[in-house]
Amino acid sequence: MRRRIVAGNWKMNGSKDLSEKLVGYVRSETGSLDNGVEVVIIPPALYVGDVLRLAQDAVSVGVQNVGQWQAGAYTGEISSEMAKDAGCRYVLVGHSERRQLFGETDEQVAEKVSLVLASGLTAIVCVGETLEERESGQAESVVAAQVRAGLSSVVRAASSASAWKNIVVAYEPVWAIGTGKTATAEDAQAMHASIRGVLKDMGAPAEEISLLYGGSVKADNAAALFSEPDIDGGLIGGASLVAEDFVSICRYF
Ligand code: PGA
Repeated sequence: MRRRIVAGNWKMNGSKDLSEKLVGYVRSETGSLDNGVEVVIIPPALYVGDVLRLAQDAVSVGVQNVGQWQAGAYTGEISSEMAKDAGCRYVLVGHSERRQLFGETDEQVAEKVSLVLASGLTAIVCVGETLEERESGQAESVVAAQVRAGLSSVVRAASSASAWKNIVVAYEPVWAIGTGKTATAEDAQAMHASIRGVLKDMGAPAEEISLLYGGSVKADNAAALFSEPDIDGGLIGGASLVAEDFVSICRYF
């Protein structure tokens, strides 16, 4: 069975106080979940230590981005080796906010994915089309191109069979992020099936790769999304900052 994952991406939100309140609650509530969901919290890097301490192994932790290098004179950057050393298991790569606000390219995404895999961590690689691309009927081709380019380093990896085990793909239509507009469960399912087809075409063990949906997932739409056969979990932004909402989403499997 594929890994079921619900990951909370705090983006540039949070504080020591929020970490204390939210992680303690999530740990106590999700410890009793028997639906096999792996709960992941992805706070700003400064709070990773706090979240790890509070999570006490009940919740996995990740970082939102890493640089294209493992160490050196790159002021302001952090590396996947550091994320691993700190105790993280996941790294988000290629979130649309990084692509749009910081000009991150598919080539950089591919480079980062290869560094994350070299560190033995799991990369959650984000893809998704803009509204304009969807309205002009290009959604599937845009997403397919992002998957092929962003994961090109996995295909080339010496031990690509084991490298795929550390890949998760998150489909996040840009028009659905933080807007309150969610893709319908049917549209999301159709895109997930298409992504799985692309992965298969790339020689990946596509049936084993977890595909998450992200974009305005809330307590009231998670059940419909998660009941689709190719949706293996969610990447949650806004709702991951409200402890009760995040826990409700984790329960909807
Ligand atoms: P949202 O963000 O749930 O606030 O739409 C999702 C994301 O960007 O990962």
